[in-house]
Amino acid sequence: MPSSRKNETILWNALFEASWDGMVVLRRDGRLYRVNQRYAEMLDYTREELESMHVWDLDTRFSQPEIEAMLHSVDGDGAHFETQQRRKDGSLIDVELSNNGATYQGIKLIFCIVRDITARKATEERLRRSEALLRDIASQVPGALYQYRMAPDGSRSFPYFSEGIVALGGLPLDVFSGPGTDPVMSRLLPEDADLVEAQTRQSAATMENVHVEFRARHADGSIRWIECRSTPQQDPDGGILWTGILLDITQRKRAEERVTTMAITDGLTGILNRQEFARLLEKEMARASRYASPLSLIMYDLDHFKRINDRFGHNAGDDVLKTVAGLVGDSLRDTDLHGRWGGEEFMVLLPETGLEAAGKVAEKLRRAIADHRFEGLGGVTASFGVAQLASGEDSRSLAQRVDEALYRAKALGRNRVESWGAAERG
Ligand code: GH3
Ligand code: MG
Ligand code: MG
Repeated sequence: MPSSRKNETILWNALFEASWDGMVVLRRDGRLYRVNQRYAEMLDYTREELESMHVWDLDTRFSQPEIEAMLHSVDGDGAHFETQQRRKDGSLIDVELSNNGATYQGIKLIFCIVRDITARKATEERLRRSEALLRDIASQVPGALYQYRMAPDGSRSFPYFSEGIVALGGLPLDVFSGPGTDPVMSRLLPEDADLVEAQTRQSAATMENVHVEFRARHADGSIRWIECRSTPQQDPDGGILWTGILLDITQRKRAEERVTTMAITDGLTGILNRQEFARLLEKEMARASRYASPLSLIMYDLDHFKRINDRFGHNAGDDVLKTVAGLVGDSLRDTDLHGRWGGEEFMVLLPETGLEAAGKVAEKLRRAIADHRFEGLGGVTASFGVAQLASGEDSRSLAQRVDEALYRAKALGRNRVESWGAAERG
């Protein structure tokens, strides 16, 4: 053998022996023709033992006929696949095989590189299990888990949604995946979107958690209240990733709204109750004095209401109260406030309105009641007192004056409007 050829043989031999991967030279009949030390170690056999065995003695996944068919089809382009082999002690090892057919000194051989992928397989299995676990947890959690990302260039995306998002928004899951899709933000009511955006920016600046409630349009057209809680974290590229949960809190919100409504309205008439009217009166008075704008108060009381109760019963009286409150409400502007002050006494607050204009409003209200035909009992009238807020005056004094004007309307024959003015000043 020429020495260069000999050197080359030594080189290839060294490569064969030093390889970190198992190396096997196979004959087409399935016999292991030569194996390296590493392969022997992988399977815990001696090389001599292996070199008297067939591939199907080692492989657990393929049958002898299958392997024979594969051996015959291997060509110069090679084959690459995963399988499992059995060690001498019976334990199993996951391997990746790269096979190449070649002819060496006139004999057709197959050169195999065998890589131990047990560790990789175990990692893959762990990963698969933890993904399944995450999916499981995410699908059991009420609401939807999500991730929201703000890239360094300011662009936004949702890298992750759990399946709960389907019920939350009424949209199929595929709407929520894919780059550049934003099926959430675009469904928020505009005023709430501003709030969410402000919170997001604030959280990005301070890295504080987000906790915000907003309304979003469901695919069925209804408006749903959503509670959102999330925690920001810095992405390696300088972006920010929020991980959080979205919960449908519509029912809780509706219940809260009912409680709030109950707390501020009068149960019989549905207009403001005395407490809420008094609260808003203070607010409007503060505003009127801040901007030096006129503010007037009307108080009205039904005339001879006791007789209505006596003749037609308390329930008929209640119906009259409801109807009167409705008639007055219909005649007022949106900015006017209307409240039930006591039994059959009511208040109307008119912002941006002076005494004379308020007198006209009261007259209109008086006529609306007097002109109405009440089912089964004919006509009902009310008397009205009107007063304009004086500068520096408190609410007690204003209420006192409007009550005095009302008293005068009663004294002067009822079903009339009296404004607090010269008469009371004496
Ligand atoms: P006037 O105001 O014209 O002097 O006579 P009046 O008969 O209305 O007298 P007063 O204001 O003293 O009586 C009010 C009556 O209104 C007494 C009470 O029985 C009745 N009333 C008060 N609250 C209610 C209510 O919620 N429902 C009904 N049906 N009646 C009420
Ligand atoms: Mg009365
Ligand atoms: Mg009364």
